[in-house]
Amino acid sequence: MKPSKNCSQVTADEKTKIALKNLNGNHTPQVLVLFGPPGAGKGTQAELLTQKFYFYNLDTSRVLEEKFKNAKPGEKIEISGEVFDVAEEAQKRHKGVLVSVGFTAFLMNKRIAEIHGLGKSLILSGSPRSVAEAEIEMPALEELYGKENITVLYLDLTPEQTMFRNSNRRICELMRHSILYIPENATLKRCPLDGSRLVRRDLDTPETIKLRLEEYAQTTLPLKNYYQEKGFNFKTINAGQFVEDVFADILAALGPKFKVYEI
Ligand SMILES: [Zn+2]
Repeated sequence: MKPSKNCSQVTADEKTKIALKNLNGNHTPQVLVLFGPPGAGKGTQAELLTQKFYFYNLDTSRVLEEKFKNAKPGEKIEISGEVFDVAEEAQKRHKGVLVSVGFTAFLMNKRIAEIHGLGKSLILSGSPRSVAEAEIEMPALEELYGKENITVLYLDLTPEQTMFRNSNRRICELMRHSILYIPENATLKRCPLDGSRLVRRDLDTPETIKLRLEEYAQTTLPLKNYYQEKGFNFKTINAGQFVEDVFADILAALGPKFKVYEI
C-alpha cells in the first residue's frame, strides 16, 4: 500500500473557508459523533456528511496511522505521567486490538483543539471507542463547542450484518476509501471516487475480524448507555440499509437546524 496524501481533507478545508465566508459569521460550529459496529458505514456516512455540510472529518484511523507512519524509531510519548511506546501502540492496531486510550485521546484532543481554533465544525467517525476514551474527549468537546452543539449518531447494525459486512469488506488502494459489501458494490472492481483498485485490508483476516467484533461488544457498545446517561443529543439510525437511505435517515434525524450549514 502506497502512503497517500490526504487530499479530501485539503479540499474540504477550502470548501469550509468558502462556506463560512458565505454565511457571514452566522455559523455555530457543530460536532457530529458517529458510532456503531465495524462495517456500519461510519466512514462512508462521515464522508457524505463532510461533503454536504463541509465539516472537518476527523478520522481516528488516519490520525493514528499518520502518527505511526511518522514516528521516530523507539519514539516514546509521556502523557500525564504515563509513557507510551509508539511502536507498541502500532503493534496493537495491527493485531486488531484497541490502541491505548490515553494515547489515542491525547492525539485526538490535540487535533480537536486545532480544528476548533479554526472555527470549524467537526465529525468524529472512529472515536471515542470506549467509555474511558469518551471521558477524556467528550468533556473537551463540550468545553470547546458546547453540549447543545453536539449530536451523537448511533449507526445500528445486527450482529449478522456486522459479521457479513466485515468478512467481505474492501478498501481502495489510493485513498483507503472503505467499500461496504452491499448489493450495489458487489461487482465493483475500482473505487467510484478515484478509480484506484479495490483490495482487501491487511487488517481483515478472520482472526482480526473476530477480535475486532469482540472488542466492539465489550468496549465500544457501552458508549450507547454513556451518551444517553450523560444527556447527549442521541439519534439511532438503521445502518442496515442502502447507503443513500442511511444518509437520508441521518439528515432527517439532524433536522432543520442543519440546513443552515448547507451551501
Ligand atoms: Zn478511493
